[in-house]
Amino acid sequence: MAKLVNFNAQARERLNAANTASLHDFRLPREQMATASEIGGCERRVVEDLKNPPVHNDRQRMVFERGHVYELMVEQYLDAMGFKRVTPEEFATAPGPCYVGGRNNQLTIEHPELPIGAHADFVIKHKTGALFVIECKTTDGIPSDPYGSWIEQLHTVMGLLQIHNPNVEIRGSVLARDLNKGHEHEFDGYAFNKGVFDYLTQKGIHLSLAKQGKVDPIPNPGPLCGFCNHREGCPGHAGAVKIPANILDIAEQVDRLNSSKKEIEKDIDTLKGQLLEFTGTRYRGEEDGICLTATTVPDSETDYVDPEKLKADFPEAFAACASKKKRAGYTKVEVKPIKLKAPKAPKAAKKQAETTEAVAA
Ligand code: SF4
Repeated sequence: MAKLVNFNAQARERLNAANTASLHDFRLPREQMATASEIGGCERRVVEDLKNPPVHNDRQRMVFERGHVYELMVEQYLDAMGFKRVTPEEFATAPGPCYVGGRNNQLTIEHPELPIGAHADFVIKHKTGALFVIECKTTDGIPSDPYGSWIEQLHTVMGLLQIHNPNVEIRGSVLARDLNKGHEHEFDGYAFNKGVFDYLTQKGIHLSLAKQGKVDPIPNPGPLCGFCNHREGCPGHAGAVKIPANILDIAEQVDRLNSSKKEIEKDIDTLKGQLLEFTGTRYRGEEDGICLTATTVPDSETDYVDPEKLKADFPEAFAACASKKKRAGYTKVEVKPIKLKAPKAPKAAKKQAETTEAVAA
C-alpha cells in the first residue's frame, strides 16, 4: 500500500512539472509576461514567487489536482452535450458548435503588442460563431459573490479573445464547484467590456514591469493571503489594514451570527429559569420526543495546591512534582464591532454646558 502511495506521489511530481512547463508557451519568457490569472491575483505574491519559487509538497499537489479533475469533468459534460472538441490550432477556423480547452488542450492567447497573455480553461464556439469563455474554479464552499480575482481573470481572457476576434460576440462565466459537498454554481452574465479590459491591461503592464524589477509590486490582500508564503513583511498586512471586500462580507456574517448567538443565549437562559421553577433541583420527564432533566451537583471541597506558592516556598518539592506539558498552539479569529467614540465637545462648549447645569441647579 505504502509503495503505491509513494508511486502516486512521484507521478504527481512528474505531472506537476509537465503541467507547469506547458504553461511557458508565450512568445516572451514568463518572467516578463503578465498572465490573466496573475493579473487577477496579488502582484506582490506573483513577484515574490518568481524570486523564490515555492516548493510544493505532495499534499499541495493533491489540492491542485482538484482543479484538473474538474476540468476533465467539464470536458466530458461538453462532449456529452454534443460540442466537438478541437485543438487550439483548429479552433479559429472550426465551425461551431465546438470547444477548445481542458487539460493540455487549453487555448493560449496573447496580446499582439503588450506582454499580456492567458490560457483559457474552455472556450466554446456556438453555431453563430459567438464565443463563450468558461473559467473553472474548485472551492471549499461556494462564496455568495465571485472573488474579484476570478472576474478579473475572466475579463482578461475575454478581452484578449476580442482583440483576435473583433466582430464576434464574446461572453463568459465562472463555474465554481465544491467537489466535496457536490455543489456547483455558475457566476454568469459577463461579457467583453472595453473599460474593464483597459484597466486590466494597465494592471498587466505594471505587473510585467514589477516582474522585471522596474517598479515596486503592489500587494493586493484577498482570500488567498492565508496560503501565501510571503505574508511576513507584507505591507498589505501591516497593522490595521483595510479588509478586502470578500473577507469583509464573511466577517460581517460572523458578526451578525455572533449578535444572534448572544440574543439566543439570553432567551435560552430566561426559558431555562422558567423550567427550573417547575423542575426544582431534581427532575426527569419525557414527552413528545423531549427529555427534560434537572440534576444538582452539591457544594464540595477539594484540595487545591497553589503552584506559584509551592514554587516560591518549596522549590525542590515543586521541581520533583513538575513536568513539562506540551500545549498545542492555535490561531484565534475574532470579529468584534468597533465602538465609535462620540466626538469630544470643544472645551469652551463643555465649560458653557457645566455653567448652564450649575445655574439650572
Ligand atoms: S500576504 Fe496577501 S497581500 Fe501579501 S503578498 Fe501574499 S497574497 Fe499578497
